[in-house]
Amino acid sequence: MKAFNFYTPKTLTEALDLLNQYKGRATVIAGGTDVVIELTERQRDTDCVININKLNELRYCKVEDGKVKIGALTTFTELENDPYIRENVKGLHSCAVHVGSPQIRNLGTIGGNVVNCSVAGDSPTTFMALDATVVLQSKAGKREMKLTDFYANCKKTQIADDELMTEIYFDAPAKGIATATMKLGKRKALVIVVVGLAVLVEKDDAGNISRAQVVIGGVSPKPARLPKVEEYLVGKPVSKATFAPCADMLSDAVREMIPTRASMPYKKEGVKGVSDKTFGRILADFGLQEGGR
Ligand SMILES: Cc1cc2nc3c(=O)[nH]c(=O)nc-3n(C[C@H](O)[C@H](O)[C@H](O)COP(=O)(O)OP(=O)(O)OC[C@H]3O[C@@H](n4cnc5c(N)ncnc54)[C@H](O)[C@@H]3O)c2cc1C
Repeated sequence: MKAFNFYTPKTLTEALDLLNQYKGRATVIAGGTDVVIELTERQRDTDCVININKLNELRYCKVEDGKVKIGALTTFTELENDPYIRENVKGLHSCAVHVGSPQIRNLGTIGGNVVNCSVAGDSPTTFMALDATVVLQSKAGKREMKLTDFYANCKKTQIADDELMTEIYFDAPAKGIATATMKLGKRKALVIVVVGLAVLVEKDDAGNISRAQVVIGGVSPKPARLPKVEEYLVGKPVSKATFAPCADMLSDAVREMIPTRASMPYKKEGVKGVSDKTFGRILADFGLQEGGR
């Protein structure tokens, strides 16, 4: 490995100055749980490493102006322990609880997970179901973009060499909104996603679905919204009977997305159970039926 400079900036301004100075030749480290592996396995050469872990100004989870705002350096443990998230955004809480091991959740950050955007990453699927927006900052200023646009290019994200992701935010779920997330993996602990599903359902006063956001992960380079399932759900009553056909619809979607992949037969069956459990949690979040977490 070639020698590199190592910096631990104390402020965001200092970090952005360094990124600007080393444009394209710097590697950012937050928790390091993804990038340290890449560095030690020599998958990456770099002139400098910028450790942003001391930028405490990027470590928060708050509700402001009707938005839930999460700083990029917030860890999964911090999210898991946040009382607002636990009570009001059950899909995101469940996502945080099931990332890696306690050690990984203590170090791994939301920013690292979103920017790394591994096909097996958990939070991008959940954040996409929440229709989240990422905030990117460089020395030149701030810009925002929907997560779906951030991931528009299938190979990489839209972050520029001189930018940091500083925040991700989404509308604070109003009364009448339920969220749920579930992943299928090959074992109970340290599960790497085989298929992930994240759902947001909004119901009107009559108990009918007025909005559905359904996102599948683990079957394409980036998480994907499933408009066919969303359109099917809108206008129907919130009930077990309404949600039941989603299992087959999701199975068809998996078959269409990865027709030739060796894992397709397993994933198309596995997703049916994931669908039943995820929508069971939606019913539970609406207080209509028990659904385990
Ligand atoms: C044993 C093990 C188990 C794991 N289990 C899971 C799991 O169950 N689910 C899951 O989703 N992931 C899992 N991971 C992957 C990893 O822990 C997560 O992706 C984690 O959230 C990465 O965050 P980090 O802060 O460690 O990122 P880092 O490794 O520090 O960085 C990851 C990438 O993001 C960039 N980056 C980080 N922060 C910023 C920022 N603010 N702005 C711009 N770029 C940035 C870095 O330059 C790098 O390219 C696992 C990893 C290990 C080693």
